[in-house]
Amino acid sequence: MVKLKHVPERSCVACGTKRAKGDLVRVVHTSQGEVAVDETGKMNGRGAYLCGRSECWEQALVQQKIGRFERALRGKLTPTDKAKLRAHGEALTAK
Ligand SMILES: [Zn+2]
Repeated sequence: MVKLKHVPERSCVACGTKRAKGDLVRVVHTSQGEVAVDETGKMNGRGAYLCGRSECWEQALVQQKIGRFERALRGKLTPTDKAKLRAHGEALTAK
């Protein structure tokens, strides 16, 4: 039985939609300075949330939105990080 309880909500850094934490994909900026897609939601570091839609991943990396994304992560995204995130976003389309 799933009990109705208060679910923590987060907003997508790209489109701003509020969703239950579990419905968003967490991107984490680890203490090692690496940016990773946190599949488990349990990785340590500063997290930013994105919808599981390729549009949002694409949007988060455009000039107007990237500042917000980087602020949430408390770090700058390197070209390598951006490539990794873009690839992840593209893989979402394939689903
Ligand atoms: Zn979104």
